[in-house]
Amino acid sequence: MGIYPPEDIDREAAAKQRGGCGRGEAPRALVRAVAPESPADDAGFEPGCYVTAVDGCPVRDVIDWRWLAADDVMELGYVDLDGDEGVVELEREPGEDWGFEFEGVVFDGVRQCRNACTFCFMRQLPDDMRSSLTLRDDDFRLSFLAGTFVTFTNLKPEDEQRIVEQRISPLRLSLHAADPEVRRRMIGRHAQHGIDVLERLLAAGIEFHAQIVLVPDQNDGDVLEDTLAWAYARPGILDVCIVPLGFTKHQSVFDRSFNNPEASRAVMDLVVPFQRRALAERGSMWAFPADEFYHNAYGPALLKNLPPAEHYGDFGMFEDGVGIIRSFVDDWRAAERAGLVERCAAALRAADRRAYYVAGCATRHFLGPLIENGPLNGLLVPLFVENDFFGGNVDVTGLLCGCDMADAVRELRRPDRIATDGGDLFLVPRVVFNDNAVTLDDMSLEDMEKRAGVRMSVVSCNASDYLPEIIDLVGRSGPTPDQTNQ
Ligand code: SF4
Repeated sequence: MGIYPPEDIDREAAAKQRGGCGRGEAPRALVRAVAPESPADDAGFEPGCYVTAVDGCPVRDVIDWRWLAADDVMELGYVDLDGDEGVVELEREPGEDWGFEFEGVVFDGVRQCRNACTFCFMRQLPDDMRSSLTLRDDDFRLSFLAGTFVTFTNLKPEDEQRIVEQRISPLRLSLHAADPEVRRRMIGRHAQHGIDVLERLLAAGIEFHAQIVLVPDQNDGDVLEDTLAWAYARPGILDVCIVPLGFTKHQSVFDRSFNNPEASRAVMDLVVPFQRRALAERGSMWAFPADEFYHNAYGPALLKNLPPAEHYGDFGMFEDGVGIIRSFVDDWRAAERAGLVERCAAALRAADRRAYYVAGCATRHFLGPLIENGPLNGLLVPLFVENDFFGGNVDVTGLLCGCDMADAVRELRRPDRIATDGGDLFLVPRVVFNDNAVTLDDMSLEDMEKRAGVRMSVVSCNASDYLPEIIDLVGRSGPTPDQTNQ
């Protein structure tokens, strides 16, 4: 771990910085908020001002800011609300926060990728997606601050120098293949530059979490085995996650990934010897096939075959889809032990209501059995929604679009599909919305309600959070129309 803890930063918010500073302009950090009675407040800073430099050094991003503003006295360059530039000395007590909150994390524009990955998801999207979703960033600062994976194919010597000097580590590496020719075929002609940079950074002590996007017939089988052996020989590569190719219907190159049980099991079997060796030698599993492989390999028997929590260590690859199912299942079990599942069932039963919970088809083999084998069976009903907007093999909840969710709910409400109407709850997990409360296809909750013809409610994604929310919703929604008429 480097000197700066990674932050949970929304990728879309980071992407907005693309227009923050034109090429050749000095970077400047837009002040979004100022903490009352902080040094920033005392010096007269207000939201809308810009910070341009610390002790004469430009502030390119949040990493620079933390690096440069570590002392308790600094000369701060700024642009005020009138557009006037100046420099002011700021002082703080030891340990005191300066009181600035900045817009975004990168102040000189997000570095964009210069690769041509055969499997790039961004190139498989429909034409009219909003620009923040099609931004092809490849920025080592976002890798460190927001956990994105980068290739290092666009790194300049001064970037390398900076990473080493500021100890910007660990970083997240898009590895895909160690074989130079395979890697070139997969990501384009700058592939080797990225590997050369990687080797130099490893030699300088920078550490990496690596990701392999596994593409059938491109980097699976022997290529994967060689890639894992290559990575394992470099201890600075702390761990590797393997994620299956995701493809949409808006392209014509791919028509399969690792969605059948045999293909997924073959990948998992190949990884096992590396895991055994790593466990013996390094005390961790080191190589992690993403949850999709387990889901696809075991199907309805998933819960019996899911690795225990210890398998995932500190769940450091959680955001990459490694250990999410285990985490969800353990949270559900904890909710059961705490009596939450029973209380939620009792609340729904007493109110004579059902709660339909929208989810991606990738949750079918764990969410389904967890509900069906307990007191919520028939009361909390998972509504597994096909992702027609993207098509292909896209089936996770987080990529569900408003149109598909609304249509699934509308279809469910046909008189021949459900017995009661007017009192049931239709629940949408919060993860399908961004910070601006719209889905990937730019629908708000209200838009979805109009399309579905029914009120919907947004709830959390973990049982320990959404079960109390359901109990609360049932309490607030009053009696069903049937009960009122009795
Ligand atoms: S590096 Fe990422 S954004 Fe760039 S082409 Fe490859 S997959 Fe797409």
